[in-house]
Amino acid sequence: MITHDTRCALDSVVDLLNSAPEGEAPGAPDTLTDLAALADFVRRNEISGVGDLGPGDLAAVRALRARFAEIFAAGDDRTAAARLNALVASAGTTPQLTDHDGYDWHVHYFAPGASVADHLAADGGMALAFLLVAGERERLRRCEAPDCRYAFVDLSRNRSRRYCDSRTCGNRLHVAAYRARRREAAG
Ligand SMILES: [Zn+2]
Ligand SMILES: [Zn+2]
Repeated sequence: MITHDTRCALDSVVDLLNSAPEGEAPGAPDTLTDLAALADFVRRNEISGVGDLGPGDLAAVRALRARFAEIFAAGDDRTAAARLNALVASAGTTPQLTDHDGYDWHVHYFAPGASVADHLAADGGMALAFLLVAGERERLRRCEAPDCRYAFVDLSRNRSRRYCDSRTCGNRLHVAAYRARRREAAG
């Protein structure tokens, strides 16, 4: 079962990954290059309690982004598990039961007072670990549009999503479905 916080942690990981140009997506700009962009990221993903952000935070979050990209790119569970174990160990993960803001009891993994990078590494890393344990690592995807390659987590029931939900790629999907229906109707 994917709880609210796991879902939020996964969304943050995807948002972080998609701030970087992927090798296969020429021309996609890196949008996480200064502290203002990092502050935006923190606000947008409602990452609480990380205090004032400094240049060290920017460097650490950019390094973390590369580690998450390697976890997404892992070819098998064992490789992904080794990378996840290293990640959550380095983040000083500290499980804490909480029922904040009206949510039912759940566990936070970041240590009290953790930096933004450690906060993301702990909760994002554990969210990805749960997917792996549940045998659902294949839900970690890259958009199949050749010029996109955005990361996303496929939460569809039958794990059939191939494209990210950006306007271009979502549209591409609809156009392909429309053409297929026309072919069927004509044939
Ligand atoms: Zn929570
Ligand atoms: Zn896409």
